[in-house]
Amino acid sequence: MTVYNFSAGPAVLPTPVLEQAQSEFTDYQGSGMSVMELSHRSSFFDAIIKDAKKRLRELMNIPDNYHILFLQGGASLQFSMVPLNLAQNKKALYVNTGSWSKKAIGAAKMLDNVAVEVIASSEEDNFTYIPDITPDMIDQDAAYLHITTNNTIVGTAFQTIPDAGKVPIVADMSSNILANDYNVEDFGIIYAGAQKNIGPAGLTVVIIRDDLLGLCEVNEPMLDYKIHTEANSLYNTPPTFAIYIAQLVFKWLQDLGGLPEILKQDQEKAQLLYDAIEKSSIFTSPVRQDSRSITNIPFVTGDEELDKKFNAEALAAGFENLKGHRSVGGMRASLYNAFPKEGVTALVAFMEKFEKENGGA
Ligand SMILES: *Cc1c(COP(=O)(O)O)cnc(C)c1O
Repeated sequence: MTVYNFSAGPAVLPTPVLEQAQSEFTDYQGSGMSVMELSHRSSFFDAIIKDAKKRLRELMNIPDNYHILFLQGGASLQFSMVPLNLAQNKKALYVNTGSWSKKAIGAAKMLDNVAVEVIASSEEDNFTYIPDITPDMIDQDAAYLHITTNNTIVGTAFQTIPDAGKVPIVADMSSNILANDYNVEDFGIIYAGAQKNIGPAGLTVVIIRDDLLGLCEVNEPMLDYKIHTEANSLYNTPPTFAIYIAQLVFKWLQDLGGLPEILKQDQEKAQLLYDAIEKSSIFTSPVRQDSRSITNIPFVTGDEELDKKFNAEALAAGFENLKGHRSVGGMRASLYNAFPKEGVTALVAFMEKFEKENGGA
């Protein structure tokens, strides 16, 4: 049975990448060793990490005044590292668009010397839309404005990046990095856990503008962006195998034609599913039309028993991890870059069949 993995993360990886990793699993390029066994100071690994950074820079058009860091601790550690490095004795602005935003806000609030201000929120409407952010809402003395560009659980995404004036925008881009047409120069910091759209869990990508380094005294080397930057992400042992897989994923994306091409494919996949939801008499999207994500697409029947039935039958038919997040219910299809279009076509056909069998018009 063909299995389609709709997981929100850790998520599907490109089959050619997995196959290449398999083919050189025990002997990396004639070294006689697995990548997992290589020293992070070896010339083999040096080539891997340099190539991974170079390819990511090319893919996202990252200017020279931005550093790429490969860290650990997940996107969740960035919730603390960002305010520690940027906002001590200052004000930090947040937009609250879902559970991950709330966690970022909570982590910043735990720091005694950071003044957290939530300038907009869609919580009163179950986070089903992205609030408008206008320049007059941004205190120009703030250390940064934090946004979650794509809200993995509720399925919303910023369609455009707000104008924050001279205040740097810090973005949690965990679930739509490499699946958007944002401009890196509109951000001060971009961070993302790798396990959604980049590679395996264990790697966190941070892209940081040079002038944001060394602003605060951090006094904890592992939490200091400046130290990681000066050490080229080799201050301590980085997650070597995860970086290697990320390198292969970046190469795979470039061979496909880079971001414009992959974004076109992502939009086509999302459109197929949104069209099916619009057409359906039993499925609906809980998300406002102008705020919809192309990487995480929740849908519901409005009837918990029917959702349960759909999820059970879908699972039996090879649609893995479609069950919605417990806070939204229903279903959620995560359609990251590596998710094949055939999987969306198959899901749409399955939804139509289910609808016919279950009293849909
Ligand atoms: C998954 C996710 C996180 C948490 O990432 P970890 O790497 O598990 O810490 C944070 N933010 C967003 C938007 C996510 O999707």
